[in-house]
Amino acid sequence: NMPLSQKVRSLKPSATVAVSSRALELKRSGVDVISLSVGEPDFDTPPHVVAAAKAALDAGKTRYTQVGGIPELREAIAAKLQRENGLSYAPEAVIVTSGAKQALFNALFALIDPGDEVLIPSPFWVSYPEMVAFAGGVPVPVTTTPESGYQLDVEALRAAVTPRTKLIMLNSPSNPTGAVYPEQTLREVAALAREHDLIIITDEMYEHIIYDAEHVSIARFAPERTLTVNGASKAYAMTGWRIGYAAGPQPLITAMNAIQSQSTSNANSIAQWAAVTAITDSYAFIEASRAEFHRRRDRIVAGLNDLGLSTPTPQGAFYVMADSTPIHASDLEAARVILDEARVAVVPGADFGAPGRVRLSYAVSLETIEEVLTRFKALLDGL
Ligand code: PLP
Repeated sequence: NMPLSQKVRSLKPSATVAVSSRALELKRSGVDVISLSVGEPDFDTPPHVVAAAKAALDAGKTRYTQVGGIPELREAIAAKLQRENGLSYAPEAVIVTSGAKQALFNALFALIDPGDEVLIPSPFWVSYPEMVAFAGGVPVPVTTTPESGYQLDVEALRAAVTPRTKLIMLNSPSNPTGAVYPEQTLREVAALAREHDLIIITDEMYEHIIYDAEHVSIARFAPERTLTVNGASKAYAMTGWRIGYAAGPQPLITAMNAIQSQSTSNANSIAQWAAVTAITDSYAFIEASRAEFHRRRDRIVAGLNDLGLSTPTPQGAFYVMADSTPIHASDLEAARVILDEARVAVVPGADFGAPGRVRLSYAVSLETIEEVLTRFKALLDGL
């Protein structure tokens, strides 16, 4: 019996991974499975970014870098935050991490003491409550509903505040709901945080994948208590490169650097050089992928609603949350039926805080979406 730590024994392996391993198993046995469970763009990294990585390799950029990232990248990120988000940060107030995931991890370990409560709008990205608990905190979900398009109810957030509340985690555009919080909501959350002396962590990974809304950074309204987290994975189709970053109050960034110096040391040097190019010069790529995701969103939302699987229209990211109760009362069972009968891999909502729904990623071609809708129709006709 391996004497694993209490901490790691309470860690839940991600539901997304469970579904994709079963889908992989089916695929390997020759079944033609369509995977809508993954959270990554289906596009290749743009060629000018790949070229920058090759140039970095040829120039011998293959050594350890500064813990917080090469100065060139931190400067590019600070300039991006000013240009695109209206935020002013010195390059020293920016940290480059191995994916946004590590930025979140560093931040939670830098902030949470045992028993500290963290407010998380629900449905949420599965990693938030797991990371909070792993850091010794208590995740406190704050419900949002499909009827409101999963908009954040600031009064519900206020009602969840206790003397142990330390942090609010926001994710707009949201994975999995696609909700985008308007400026007024963000101003109210900032005021609430100031009133109760709370820290805000805002995960803005999907800021560029947005349709009928405008992305606003909450750090504009509470810079003294906000950590803005972002990265290269979604905006520039760079999931495998593992580049994320965060900007915020200097003492927090310094603490995150200390954690990083004793864990990963620094993000991959070649990927950091590629990210300088991605962040500085990718407007055409961002516009083209946004337009493509927009067409796909319109098609999949219309198609699922036509089939009687009620699906709110997301304003951002590349996921939809479909009502799965016409297939089975339990979303876990519904996901199993969809995989076994329709040969489509989706993620059950229970683990996201969304029972009765399944999450479908539409980071696939329009033809694939048509095929998925055809398979769903056959499944529903056969029930
Ligand atoms: N934040 C959200 C909301 C995500 O959906 C993801 C990836 O799925 C991440 C962060 C992690 O991004 P990265 O690849 O930069 O670690």
